[in-house]
Amino acid sequence: MSSDPASQTEGDRAVAVALACLRGARRILVFTGAGISTESGIPDFRGPQGVWKTRDPARYTIQHYLADPEVRRERWRDRLDAAVDRAVPNAAHAAVAALQRAGLTTAIVTQNIDGLHQLAGAVDVIELHGTTREAVCLACERRLPVETVLDRVREGDHDPHCELCGGLLKTATVSFGQRLPDRDLDAAMRAADGCDACLVIGSTLSVWPAAGVVVQAVRTRARLVIVNDGATDLDDLADAIVPGRAGAVLPRLVDGLLAARAGDGGR
Ligand code: NAD
Repeated sequence: MSSDPASQTEGDRAVAVALACLRGARRILVFTGAGISTESGIPDFRGPQGVWKTRDPARYTIQHYLADPEVRRERWRDRLDAAVDRAVPNAAHAAVAALQRAGLTTAIVTQNIDGLHQLAGAVDVIELHGTTREAVCLACERRLPVETVLDRVREGDHDPHCELCGGLLKTATVSFGQRLPDRDLDAAMRAADGCDACLVIGSTLSVWPAAGVVVQAVRTRARLVIVNDGATDLDDLADAIVPGRAGAVLPRLVDGLLAARAGDGGR
């Protein structure tokens, strides 16, 4: 980024404002959504190429899943061919992991179910909407690696049930109409209470109660920085907005923060 204001692009200026907001923060809550993973080849829901442009969200409720074997067969077919199994973390996931390694995050809270933060090296990630890398029995709540269920689907068991109790199996994700696990939401809210800044990446902030974590951070007077390729529902609350692709913006932002911390004597 140029230090000469006259030659700075709008993107440079937005990153500089975001850096000024985050400089000095030592307990950053990182909150991510589907947009951080589009550059890894996983489509989001509400972006210009989002899944809801071609599919009806109404078919993705837990009620449909429970009631209709055809919906369950469709979900397992989709899961067999899911982009998540081919995806690798991108530069934005790597930057978030670097921020955590530097000790500047209080929590990484994600709405994503793809596990890419962990593959990039992040730990203790709070997955508000669960994970598609595991399956769960909806009756006895036993969890198992999703691959073991996918093997059964490949062998022709298109609506697999729990081998122990006969209950319905599902990916360990939170569908519309399903409650978020209290433990995860409580942990995210506690992190929001104790953060000094909140960095949102790749989310429309329109899915509740997840977006409430960001609102809670703002209530506790944390600074809010949003990196998103498009408007969000909470832009009005933001101290800085950086439009653009997370894979390009995040490395610049995190490099800038780490350099600023080194300049502050590592404090
Ligand atoms: P969303 O689909 O509502 O919004 C994504 C936002 O990210 C959009 O504004 C889009 O324009 C923006 N975006 C897309 N690519 C971007 C990029 N490279 N850089 C910056 N911004 C980018 O996503 P949401 O707010 O996370 O809500 C959707 C729900 O869908 C979540 O609950 C999540 O669980 C689920 N979901 C998850 C995945 C995943 O795990 N990767 C994928 C699709 C949906």
